[in-house]
Amino acid sequence: MPVWVDPEKCNGCYNSRQPPCVRMCPGDLIVKDYSVNKAYLKYPEDCWDCLPCIKACPEEAIEFHLSYQLGSKGAKLVPHVHKTRDFITWEAVDNSGNEERFKIRTKVLKIDLDEQIEDGAEGLDFSI
Ligand code: SF4
Ligand code: SF4
Repeated sequence: MPVWVDPEKCNGCYNSRQPPCVRMCPGDLIVKDYSVNKAYLKYPEDCWDCLPCIKACPEEAIEFHLSYQLGSKGAKLVPHVHKTRDFITWEAVDNSGNEERFKIRTKVLKIDLDEQIEDGAEGLDFSI
């Protein structure tokens, strides 16, 4: 079941040409549409739910929607990456709207945005 980029939350990582979600996808499935400054999953049929894109997004703009076998429409996992970036709290919502949260330790790996980033994003720590 593919991930989904919320266009309301995605800010395109300012004017980065290679935002973290694009860089982290091992299948090069996420691309940035420069005309609207948003990323999107271009090849959803090839997504295998490995989720580094979700963990790398500084805006928590990428959601993991559960397949219908696990939960029908509305069921989803939403990541909340801690400021220290070594934990993620997963917000799990079932198809009745019930919510549970799970705090999971995650690997920290520094990655840099490319040189095209605007001043406003300098100093941000993008890591998974
Ligand atoms: S990392 Fe997040 S905010 Fe940045 S371009 Fe990708 S989806 Fe948008
Ligand atoms: S879940 Fe994995 S394969 Fe799917 S878009 Fe994200 S990084 Fe790529």
